[in-house]
Amino acid sequence: MTLPAPPTPSPGGEALPAWAERRLAREREARKAAESLLTHKSRELFEALTQARETERRLQLALWASGEGIWHWDAATGGLQVQGLTIDGQDQTVPSQGLPALLAAIHPEDRESLRLAWRLHAGGARDDIDTAFRLMRGAGPRWLRIRGRAVTRGSDGSPLSVIGTVKDVTDQRGAEHTLQLMAQAFASTLDALAVVDEHWRIVQVNESMLALVGGQGSELDGKPLARFIALPPEAGAPAGWQGEGQLQRLQGQSLAVEVSASRVAERAGQGRCYIVALRDISERRRAEQALARLALHDSLTELPNRAALDQHLAERLKAPVQPFCLMFIDLDGFKSVNDSFGHRAGDDLLVDVARRLDRALPGAFISRWGGDEFVVVLPPGSDDTALREAAQMVLAGLGMPFQVGEHEVVVTPSIGAVACPEHGDDAQTLLRRADAAMYVAKDSGRNTLVIFEPALDEGVHRRTRLQSLLRADAERNAFHFVVQPKVSAAGRMTGAEMLMRWSPEGLGPVSPAEFIPVAEQIGVIDIMGRNALHAAARIAAQVHALGAKASLAVNLSPRQLLRPDIERIILHACERHHADPAWLELELTESALVADVAAVERLLVRLRRRGFTLALDDFGTGYSSLSHLRHLPFHKVKIDRSFVKDLHADPRSRVMLEGIVQLCASLSLTTVAEGVETAEQFEMLREVGVDEFQGFYFARPQPQQQWFEALAVEQGL
Ligand code: C2E
Ligand code: CA
Ligand code: CA
Repeated sequence: MTLPAPPTPSPGGEALPAWAERRLAREREARKAAESLLTHKSRELFEALTQARETERRLQLALWASGEGIWHWDAATGGLQVQGLTIDGQDQTVPSQGLPALLAAIHPEDRESLRLAWRLHAGGARDDIDTAFRLMRGAGPRWLRIRGRAVTRGSDGSPLSVIGTVKDVTDQRGAEHTLQLMAQAFASTLDALAVVDEHWRIVQVNESMLALVGGQGSELDGKPLARFIALPPEAGAPAGWQGEGQLQRLQGQSLAVEVSASRVAERAGQGRCYIVALRDISERRRAEQALARLALHDSLTELPNRAALDQHLAERLKAPVQPFCLMFIDLDGFKSVNDSFGHRAGDDLLVDVARRLDRALPGAFISRWGGDEFVVVLPPGSDDTALREAAQMVLAGLGMPFQVGEHEVVVTPSIGAVACPEHGDDAQTLLRRADAAMYVAKDSGRNTLVIFEPALDEGVHRRTRLQSLLRADAERNAFHFVVQPKVSAAGRMTGAEMLMRWSPEGLGPVSPAEFIPVAEQIGVIDIMGRNALHAAARIAAQVHALGAKASLAVNLSPRQLLRPDIERIILHACERHHADPAWLELELTESALVADVAAVERLLVRLRRRGFTLALDDFGTGYSSLSHLRHLPFHKVKIDRSFVKDLHADPRSRVMLEGIVQLCASLSLTTVAEGVETAEQFEMLREVGVDEFQGFYFARPQPQQQWFEALAVEQGL
């Protein structure tokens, strides 16, 4: 603002009249006062203006900080103006816009509630407008909350101008929604959940928790959680707590549960709280226990298995060790049962064996080692006497025939035993040595007990060596055959027995008495036996090509006899070498009959019809059964050389021998005495009435050529 300039004094500085001077002074005074007032007013004005700006700036800042915008509706224009609203960081200032345009941008479901809020306020029923709606936008709807109030109203009370704030509350709504979902999840989840306060008192539980604990309604609220489940000291740790425990139900029973407690973030005003989740794992526990049982028990016999034995021995071998004995039991002839009656029958038999062992040895730890092998650990303090008694109980218990279907079979045990700590103080050594002793029991006629002694260890090494050598040599057919002549009472050669010979590299000659059982055990006897049959057919054909009259005997292993194709194999060997079955004798031992007498009988009947001569070998050893002699279609019985050996020293041997010979005669069976070494033996056997003789006294096993020559001489060819 500018004021007109005051009149200046006349040039030359002439003095003015006094009245003029006074007037001038008055005017100067007045002008000064006016100027001062003006300055004052304009400063006031300036200050007011700055203050208003500051207030607006503050208002704007406050709105910006709260994320709110301002809207203003004016009845005169019907337009709505929005200022300062930001969505996703973008300013949403809208120039004046009609309400219909705005409504069109709102989610149809929310339009009605907005209209209602407006009307309620406009009509005076509500003091203000406070509602939320979804604004439809390209990037998805946003929740806006508006609040507002009429600032001026017309004479009829209708709003003329409404002002308010608007805010994007999408994120908040999202959080609320999540909370809602969580609450629903809490209520409906199958996991049993409880909210507990910082003193571990239950604040709230869901349905599943109620069901698990066995409560109703709000029964659990306020109760200490520890009343139902033991809390570990670390339960309150910030990381929460996870573990397993026993839940004490209200009804008294307890349940295995998995517990996890997690601390919920603290909020102002609320103390710490925890969410505790329980899961019923009793079913899983049962399954685990069943599994553990399975892991330690043999599913067939239900006896402890090898793993359980390991555990048991580990326990027993902890210092200080109480002496005890251990038995390794292998069933004789079990394989034949499996082969001839099938695995089901074999399984049944094993179950039966387990039961019998259990009955025979109360107080002992009986485990199934595998297949037909069992390991028995006798109680602490068991000594040699206890061991022998136990073995006796086992031999007696398993000695009775087993019922397999309609068949009765005999499956005897071979028992090897060790004493701890005498024979070892670790499980491996004890088992290995008991196993070695068991093999000796097998080799020494089975159905017996052999207690380990240091010399047996070598035997084990030799056995393993034989096994690997045999496997290789069976493939290469690295065996040859010798023959041992048989003579009549008159001393004439009636035939010969073919015997297998083997001299593996590095070991020198090994007796078939040693290697045949190993070959049976590892399964190579099949191929070896087939080669033997071919050799026998060839030699028999050569003998007859010479024009000589003599039979050739070949030994058959029990295992071979159980092959379903054995008849075809034998016939094939004959055809191949143009040998008449009548020239061949088949020698088999009684152990071949153990498994399935009926099946072997059918086979023998067929072979006999084909023309083969059938001889029962080693008669008098093991479990000789006279009934076999009656029923089976044998031609010959070869009396074991143990009888012949004892003939001189033991009068009972002679009596028994006479009995056997008479019985055989009555059944039209030819008798053959093996192992005749002296003239006296020959004389006595002849007196008793034996028909044929074989032994070193007449001839040792020899190359076939040597026998051919002897035959040629004797028969004048
Ligand atoms: P084995 O069938 O009883 O055969 C007779 C055994 O007695 C032969 O032993 C023979 O050398 C022996 N021997 C013969 N006369 C006398 C004697 O006067 N005194 C004594 N102390 N022994 C005598 P080898 O050859 O060691 O055969 C042993 C066993 O091996 C045979 O007993 C037989 O069971 C088995 N074997 C031999 N060759 C074969 C074969 O080709 N196949 C099968 N499966 N087994 C065979
Ligand atoms: Ca023989
Ligand atoms: Ca024999």
